[in-house]
Amino acid sequence: MSCIFCQIAEGTIPANVVFKDDKVMAFRDIHPQAPVHIVIIPIKHIEKLTDIRGDDFGLIAYIFDIANDLARSEGIAGRGYRVVVNSGKEGGQVVQHLHFHLLGGRQLSGELG
Ligand code: 5GP
Ligand code: ZN
Repeated sequence: MSCIFCQIAEGTIPANVVFKDDKVMAFRDIHPQAPVHIVIIPIKHIEKLTDIRGDDFGLIAYIFDIANDLARSEGIAGRGYRVVVNSGKEGGQVVQHLHFHLLGGRQLSGELG
């Protein structure tokens, strides 16, 4: 299997895991862009935003629930944080397994691209 995030989910590739259950996993980004930079993925391989199907929207809502919980446990919930999804080539997606970046712990710029 070539998908790097599926391999992280399986434990084949090590990661600094901060959350895992049967649906969702979260781990620290290997090249953090902020003091807090966590990658949150569905365990199920979904490639990008436009591949989300009707049955998956509960899963996506659950990912935001996890993101908020992680923001609280990382101490950035009150200060503010950002959740970002890069989708597709021009969206800047490098790893082709849908993921949500949780960023915080510094003043983030207003630039979105
Ligand atoms: P994208 O640009 O696709 O939205 O973000 C992919 C993210 O995954 C990047 O921030 C990159 O640093 C991170 N990443 C890539 N490979 C690995 C890895 O093997 N382990 C971890 N922890 N993060 C990774
Ligand atoms: Zn995958």
